[in-house]
Amino acid sequence: MLSNIQGITDALEKALGGEELSFQDGLQLMKEENLFSLGVAADMIRKKTCGNLVTFTSSYYLNYTNVCAASCPLCAFYRKGDEEDAYTLTIEQIVTRAGIAVKQMGANELHIVGGFHPKLGLEYYERMMKEIKSRYPEVTIKALTPAEIFFIARLTKNSIKEVLIRLKDAGLDTLPGGGAEIFGTESRDKIVRGKCSGEEWLDTVRQAHELGLTSNSTMLFGHVEKIKDIVDHVLKIRDLQKKTNGFNTFIPLKFSLDNTELEQDGTITMESPSTYDLRIIAVSRLLLSNVLNNISIYWVALGKKLAQVALSYGGNDLVGTAFSEEIFKASGKGTVTSIEELINLIREVKKEPALRNSYFNIVKRFDS
Ligand code: SF4
Repeated sequence: MLSNIQGITDALEKALGGEELSFQDGLQLMKEENLFSLGVAADMIRKKTCGNLVTFTSSYYLNYTNVCAASCPLCAFYRKGDEEDAYTLTIEQIVTRAGIAVKQMGANELHIVGGFHPKLGLEYYERMMKEIKSRYPEVTIKALTPAEIFFIARLTKNSIKEVLIRLKDAGLDTLPGGGAEIFGTESRDKIVRGKCSGEEWLDTVRQAHELGLTSNSTMLFGHVEKIKDIVDHVLKIRDLQKKTNGFNTFIPLKFSLDNTELEQDGTITMESPSTYDLRIIAVSRLLLSNVLNNISIYWVALGKKLAQVALSYGGNDLVGTAFSEEIFKASGKGTVTSIEELINLIREVKKEPALRNSYFNIVKRFDS
């Protein structure tokens, strides 16, 4: 059907034929391809790979500190330690919240991330995981982005491998995909300050995968990046996935502008248009085809309505309930939902909702 559409690019023909796309193909899709053709192709590949299911997890977000040694211009969340609204949760507070998440809210996953706290030792994280696991062994601990792991290793003068081994022994199950931002150095240097490089992020993930820890992967878009950065980033994720097969999903994250330095200094005045957001999602699906099957749509960043549309542009997952999310909230995004609302959002676009675990195994289907 699609090959009848006039002006279809060679790259799209290749994608539909099941061929692996090159960097040049990616550029062509980003620059030239008609958005609707792109969407149809991405949706066809999604359907072939994932059927009509759209998944999500029941996740509770635990942002253990907003104190951060870095000061990324993209970030509205971080505080310096002496600021009035700086906070760091004690292990007891964390365990109490974990209990509320698991017992009262039905969370099957704890998503634990925070700032780069300059004074917390490795023991803090080990105790956090041990205490949670001893009380709630059924919950999956998805904690510490590769960027945090890298920071903790540097701070505590341990190797990345040593940090990962100790945290895994303490109860760490899998890693979130944050901190990847955009790998291209020229753009990355404009949006982060004091965070690991793209190469260091990828190397940390590689080491985690080699130890048997899976992880998510992300890409932050809609800031100062060029389209070559988008293609380069997705292909670097693809290359690593081919080597380790350790990524559970790829999450293209739309940049949220409010309350960031990038907004305040006028570097960026508007968030990206929804047509660009959908193009990124569709191109991600096409570039990762046959290598990484899950493309997650983070409704918190995209908004619920556009997230629904994105499910027809290659997305097959809505990430999760994100109970208690603080990071995007700091940049003005609404983060309140329920399992029922996610089910309805999925059903409204004629897809079948399913609760999954952190590794994308189906836990429960919801019959209509
Ligand atoms: S993005 Fe992360 S590392 Fe950068 S300032 Fe914010 S909390 Fe710190």
